[in-house]
Amino acid sequence: MRATQLYAPTLRESPAEAELISHKLMFRAGFIRKAAGGIYSYLPLGWRTIKKIMQIIREEMDAKGGQEIMMPIVQPAELWKESGRWSVYGDEMMRLKDRHGREFALGPTHEEMITSLIRDEVRSYKQLPLLLYQMQNKYRDEIRPRFGLMRSREFIMKDLYSFDKDVDGMNNSYEKMYDAYSRIFTRCGLKFRAVEADNGAIGGGHSHEFTVLAPSGESSIAYCEKCDYAASDEKAELKLICADAEELKPLEKVSTPNCHTIEAVKNYLNVPIEKTIKAVAFMDDEERLIVAFVRGDHEVNEIKVMNAVEGTNHLYMADEKLIAAANSCAGFMSPIGIGNAIIIVDQTVMEMYNAVAGANEVDAHFINVTPRRDFDAKKIIVKDIRMVQEGDPCPHCGEPLKMTRGIEVGQVFTLGKKYSETLNAKFLDEDGLEKFFEMGCYGIGVGRTMAAAIEQNNDKDGIIWNKAIAPFEVVVVPVNAKDDKQLNLAEEIYNELKTAGVDVLLDDRKERAGVKFKDCDLIGYPLRVTISPKTLDSGNVEIKIRRSGEFMNFARGECISKILELLKTL
Ligand code: ATP
Ligand code: MG
Repeated sequence: MRATQLYAPTLRESPAEAELISHKLMFRAGFIRKAAGGIYSYLPLGWRTIKKIMQIIREEMDAKGGQEIMMPIVQPAELWKESGRWSVYGDEMMRLKDRHGREFALGPTHEEMITSLIRDEVRSYKQLPLLLYQMQNKYRDEIRPRFGLMRSREFIMKDLYSFDKDVDGMNNSYEKMYDAYSRIFTRCGLKFRAVEADNGAIGGGHSHEFTVLAPSGESSIAYCEKCDYAASDEKAELKLICADAEELKPLEKVSTPNCHTIEAVKNYLNVPIEKTIKAVAFMDDEERLIVAFVRGDHEVNEIKVMNAVEGTNHLYMADEKLIAAANSCAGFMSPIGIGNAIIIVDQTVMEMYNAVAGANEVDAHFINVTPRRDFDAKKIIVKDIRMVQEGDPCPHCGEPLKMTRGIEVGQVFTLGKKYSETLNAKFLDEDGLEKFFEMGCYGIGVGRTMAAAIEQNNDKDGIIWNKAIAPFEVVVVPVNAKDDKQLNLAEEIYNELKTAGVDVLLDDRKERAGVKFKDCDLIGYPLRVTISPKTLDSGNVEIKIRRSGEFMNFARGECISKILELLKTL
């Protein structure tokens, strides 16, 4: 391809609303243009990278036995009503009506569609496992579409759905996809972790989020540098921390005027924060009071609390009346003497000695609280209910955990029978019995993967592409394209590289060299080959490696083989 025929409008300024570097650079380098909030066109360079990512995904899906299909974007409301998600999905679902008033949705995901597609036709266990996937635009009316392709309202997703005859089969499909995802993101040149994720409402199954490590990411994850443990901050399991044993002192109530916060209590009583017990009070939809207790320097993890209480799907801050009805008051709560409430105590609290906790009355605390002695074991639930913190021991190997931020680029899920049951999708098993399919679903955000790659690979001059997903692998730049000698040599090298199978661009624009070099750096081609008057004199071709900024000179005769060698390392 020649730059004179390429539509690649580069810009000096980025849009005012762009916060993320990937958004700014994709705009400036002429990869995308905005049509409306969260809705974008891909220009030729952006689309080339998108197609390369899609091709990597396709190869890895096919290698695991995936078969590519294409389902409709426009989905009838009936299907979603059948699964019960028409009402649950809420405003995020883009809905429309046809001329007859029939309702449709623009697909945010395709579990319903694919289950209905196979339910009347896949009849026998002999047809399983079945792995079907597509790559297609998805629609989610995100509250705050921002960050460019990272969180848009129309975005390309690869979604694969697996159908198996039993749980072992489903787990096997999950393993295959987990492996394929690891290969995909490795091939894209990304630093990522497969993070154990909470699969909330779906429950029971497993789920991993593939998360690209980047400070700008929206997910917070805990990971171990020694083993491969990684989990979202909501999910991370925590080991018990045992305080050193102490001689037990008698429980005593003391006055703590105006000490509503842990900070105030600790200062007033002059005790270390690790010696305090803090309460967070919630209520659920049935207006049950749920009080969670953690060590003063720890934070309560609401998801863990929710999972610990049977029959609770939402937690709200408890209101004062509910707390008063349990003979307690906010700021001074403890399990000792509290009335009607569901009490959940973090496992680490149970290992404390002579600590400070509320006395369930205004301006009073207990000191010398030893939970094993003072809490009524029959009335409390003891669980791991706290948020992970940097330095907590890894649940697998004990090494201190690190915290980092990341971008979720893909997620793998086991669904079990959730959709096959609600949509009545059955097959006939070997034993002649009708059974529901065991399903899994597996998504990758293609545009988000491109954005994440830029977040991880850029500098002040622009993008730094990994060869596998660069819009072009090499750019050949005659410094002065008006000079026939330079242009001819550049054409020669360009043609030889093309013949050698390199994805190469010839920058034959009659622009100033400085302008062309700036564009090369901004767009981020991994290698630049420069043809200058010096090249004509010395016979040496200059190569610049975008990532390291290194320059090299190769004799004309060996330059093609040298470029091919260099490319293998990029
Ligand atoms: P998030 O939590 O970021 O909203 P999600 O967990 O709802 O995403 P999934 O349903 O797991 O997303 O979708 C699979 C993949 O699709 C995600 O891992 C992500 O890469 C991509 N994706 C989801 N929502 C968006 C979006 N609004 N814009 C771009 N990509 C998205
Ligand atoms: Mg997800």
